[in-house]
Amino acid sequence: MNRLKSILLLLSLLFVLPAFPQQSGYPANYARAPRFKALLFYSDTAEEAHVQFAEQAKEFFHRLTYGDGYILDTTTSLAGYSYEKLAGYNIIIAINAAPEGNEQRAAFEQYMENGGGWLGFHAAAYNDAGTDWPWLNKFLGCGRFYCNNWPPQCVLLDLDVTDSPITRNIPATFVAPESEWYMWNPSPRQNPDVEILASISPRNYPLGIKDVISYGDFPVAWRNKNYRMVYLNYGHGDREFTDATQNLLTLQAFRYVVSLDPKGNPFEK
Ligand code: ZN
Repeated sequence: MNRLKSILLLLSLLFVLPAFPQQSGYPANYARAPRFKALLFYSDTAEEAHVQFAEQAKEFFHRLTYGDGYILDTTTSLAGYSYEKLAGYNIIIAINAAPEGNEQRAAFEQYMENGGGWLGFHAAAYNDAGTDWPWLNKFLGCGRFYCNNWPPQCVLLDLDVTDSPITRNIPATFVAPESEWYMWNPSPRQNPDVEILASISPRNYPLGIKDVISYGDFPVAWRNKNYRMVYLNYGHGDREFTDATQNLLTLQAFRYVVSLDPKGNPFEK
C-alpha cells in the first residue's frame, strides 16, 4: 500500500511539475517601467560598409533593451522630428548619418543646446567643405574631416583618460577591430572644451596600405564638455562588434550620456 502511495505521489508530481511557469525569452529581471527613451537614427542608403555597421548597431542596442530597461525607437530619417518630438528622447544614437536640411538641423541644434543627448559614430560626424553647417563643428569640437586610412584595419588605441566612467575597466591600450579611421583638422585636442578619451597610438604609423597616414595626433573618442555628447570614430563594416573591450567602451559611452540627463539620472530612478 505504501509503495502504491509512493507511486501515486510520483505520478502526481510528474503531472504537476510541468504546470509550473516555464521561463521564456531572455532570462532577465524585467523593469517595472522603461527608464528612458532612445532614438536610433541611421541611413540604410549610405555606403555599404556603413549600412553593415548600422544593421549590427541596431542589434547591439536592441539587445541592451532586454529586460525593458529602455525604449528604443529607430528611424532612417529625421524628417518630421521637431524639437518637441526630439525632446521626448533622452538620447539620439547617430549611427551613420546627420540631420539633413535646415529644418532638421535647426531642430537638432535646439535639442542639443537644451540638454539633449547624442552618441555618434563614425560617419555621423563626417563633414567637409560642402557640408556648410558651422554649428556642427562647434558641437563636435573639431574641424572638418581631413584624411583616413584605407583599407579598414585594426589599430592599437591608447586611452587618454582611464578614470572616466566611459573608460573605466578598459585597458590603457587595446587593439580595436578593423575600421576606417577619420582624422580631423583642426584636431579636437586643440579645443580646451573637449576631453579626449582615446587616440590611435603613434605606434601604428604608417597606418594604411592604399591611403597611408604616417604621422599626426589622432584622437578617435571624445566628448565636448559643452554638450551631453560622446563621439566614437569607429563604425565601418561588419567587424565593429567583435571585440569585448570596444563593446564595453560603446556601452559605457552610451550609459554616460544617458546618465547626465538634466531631468535626472534615469539609472537612479
Ligand atoms: Zn567609413
